[in-house]
Amino acid sequence: MPEQEESWNEGIRLASILEAAGHAAYLVGGCVRDRLLGRRINDIDIATSALPEQVMVLFPKVIPTGLQHGTVTVLLGDVGFEVTTFRHEATYSDARHPDEVVFVRDVNEDLARRDFTINAIACGTDGRMIDPFGGRADLARRFVRCVGAASERFSEDALRMLRGVRFAAEFDFEIDAEAWEAILGQRRQLSRIAMERVGVELDKMLAGSHPDKAIRLLRTSGLLVHAKESLLPPLPELPARSEPETGELGWRKLPDANDRWAALLLLAGADERQASDWMRKLKFSARKGDAVSTVVAVSGYLRSQASGRNDETPDREVWTEAVLRFGVPAAESYLSVVRAFPSIDSALWGDQKEQEGPSRIEQAAEWLRAMPISRLNELAIRGDELVRLSNREAGPWVAEELKRLLLLVALEKLSNDPLALKNEAFRSLQGGRE
Ligand code: ATP
Ligand code: MG
Repeated sequence: MPEQEESWNEGIRLASILEAAGHAAYLVGGCVRDRLLGRRINDIDIATSALPEQVMVLFPKVIPTGLQHGTVTVLLGDVGFEVTTFRHEATYSDARHPDEVVFVRDVNEDLARRDFTINAIACGTDGRMIDPFGGRADLARRFVRCVGAASERFSEDALRMLRGVRFAAEFDFEIDAEAWEAILGQRRQLSRIAMERVGVELDKMLAGSHPDKAIRLLRTSGLLVHAKESLLPPLPELPARSEPETGELGWRKLPDANDRWAALLLLAGADERQASDWMRKLKFSARKGDAVSTVVAVSGYLRSQASGRNDETPDREVWTEAVLRFGVPAAESYLSVVRAFPSIDSALWGDQKEQEGPSRIEQAAEWLRAMPISRLNELAIRGDELVRLSNREAGPWVAEELKRLLLLVALEKLSNDPLALKNEAFRSLQGGRE
């Protein structure tokens, strides 16, 4: 990872400039932790004794991103480094925001305000680590442990409970016993945290290395039940980790975070409305909410079409109608989700392993690939042409006829060429169809 090494070195260079001006400066937090773990570093945070205005005079490009917290962003080239004055956070009366930020002189005091020991290691420009809480030892024994008394730290800021779960899942660490007890004791405090912040944490957990572990920890801790707004249905009970398909591997087959959300909600048994409810309450963008709930909707549609029929596997027509209704991206995501988690909609697709030849899912994927077009505006005939051709008043029949033609083309029963489409439309309209 040469570019990783480069940005780390840039961080060291930045800290050296602060030191040369007489200030103390360290790389700190997630970047030190991730470097010690040999993982990809996200962004580099620097803690310094310099006040924001002292930082601002030392560098040509500085953005005052969070002055009230003592944070500025220093730009070196096009990379931003968050530089924060050593601080200490006094009394949290609301389990969310420190009542006041106090700047301090000593890096050890700054480290003491941080949430977990593994996040409370500072690295000097000479490479020397300042690790007053045994963060390196916890990295080695693979434990998430609070700096100081866990129940105090969680009552100061309830979001830390979710962060703890996230780090345990991401690194596949244990949550230390005191912290776990404190989560069980304080989980009700999660109701004080804005849903948006809960959403950010959940999204990171799902997009991360071990979503299954995160879901299991969230379930056994009962944390999410106490979110400010209720999320229904509750998280699914996942089979044991050792189960090859559902335990862990399924998630790895879904690189896209939105597909993972759809899988989670389908595993939980959510319908489209519940899925969009989850996404809305967690304050995700409408775009993300739609992307996820539409995949859930594909499942609901196929199941509603299947009910009452002998063979529940969607035939080409039902499948193609679903694709046209919900769009190709949603259909493709749906296929990825049911491939990754065969327990989802297994009544529709059967057990893939018992199949001979291509599975029913791959058959559906093949039909999807074979579709020449999937949207009305790709059809080689327009509504006004239909009206002229028929000599009738425009009306709802136009859209219906266009949809019928689109389905025929998508099914490869009719070619998407103006003459063929006109002939087909003429024939059906002559035939007295409404
Ligand atoms: P990542 O960026 O991979 O999510 P991170 O550890 O860098 O992990 P950030 O949210 O970027 O997490 O925060 C940077 C550092 O600030 C953390 O490592 C931790 O030391 C401290 N920190 C962040 N949030 C809190 C919090 N709620 N309570 C106490 N310290 C925190
Ligand atoms: Mg970070």
